[in-house]
Amino acid sequence: MSNTIIVAGPCAAESYEQLSLTAKGLSDALAAQKRQLDYFRAGVWKPRSQPDAFAGCGEKALPWLQDIQEQYGFPVCVEVNAPEQLDLCEKHHIKTIWIGSRTGVNPFDIQEIASAIQGRDFTVMVKNPMIADLKLWIGNIERFRKAGVKQIMAIHRGFADSGESVYRNRPGWEIAIDLKIHFPEMPILCDPSHIAGNRNYIGQLSQLALDYGFDGLMIETHHQPENALSDAAQQLTPDDFVNLLLSLNFKDNVTSPAENELRKQRTQINNIDTQLSVLLRKRMEVVDLIAKIKQEHNLPVVQPEQWKKVVDLYLKESLQDNDYQDFINNFLELLHQSSIKRQRK
Ligand code: PEP
Ligand code: MN
Repeated sequence: MSNTIIVAGPCAAESYEQLSLTAKGLSDALAAQKRQLDYFRAGVWKPRSQPDAFAGCGEKALPWLQDIQEQYGFPVCVEVNAPEQLDLCEKHHIKTIWIGSRTGVNPFDIQEIASAIQGRDFTVMVKNPMIADLKLWIGNIERFRKAGVKQIMAIHRGFADSGESVYRNRPGWEIAIDLKIHFPEMPILCDPSHIAGNRNYIGQLSQLALDYGFDGLMIETHHQPENALSDAAQQLTPDDFVNLLLSLNFKDNVTSPAENELRKQRTQINNIDTQLSVLLRKRMEVVDLIAKIKQEHNLPVVQPEQWKKVVDLYLKESLQDNDYQDFINNFLELLHQSSIKRQRK
């Protein structure tokens, strides 16, 4: 864990008490592991999709964050989406900002912030734009480089474009890896919280990110996630966050090339299994709906012609491969039996 950049803190600053309890929880839990946070995050100006959603506390949260920074000694970072916010951050000694994925889609906004930052001492973390456009992400980073920013990091938070994903945002790992190839010296962090949208997936996404060679993790934490005013489903308590860190396999632990290769392949398997397990559960939910319709209309549970269509669909994929066909036949038998059992119930 030692070389990995760790950023944690709530989605949004909600009150002094919430920031203070979260920072204390993080500080205590990490101290027990002889570790400190690299950055404490909290959104102050929150760009939201819905007009009535909580949009952050704005300027009044900055003195709270300044206090947290002084008390706990970890640098605070906030999202900035307009040049005047830089002045307010500076006034409160906040020297690290991140560019959000929504701001990242507008080069005019990025240029305004980059021009305003010229000659000032800020560290800038640039999240990927919401759309899966590598050139736009690279261009946003270039604007800050041209403005003379010395410390720039990238943050991968997934893409809000179409495409099947069990997560809130499609990971699109290949785009983040291409960015790493383009800027080999620049640290790239992963934000599994915004990719996942659900705290249950954060562990597996974090491990994937470490296996892909990311340099850090930004993870949303809240002292009471269920009461959070934004992104409640994806935040972790400080204790759960530290337990998650302890469960991860950090890359300094890798010993042999074979182990490295194995980890890469296991990463793929983990990714596929995650998607499979969610899809199978979703399939069962649809089976329940079908059972209800059949019951209401007094239809039989087993409808052989419908099942034949399912079998044909799967077998189309397995024409040339006998072993695979055997596997699919066994798998379908199990699927069919459990579906019938569930519908009978
Ligand atoms: C955030 O970090 O709270 C945030 C809003 O991120 P994103 O821009 O990735 O949605
Ligand atoms: Mn958030």
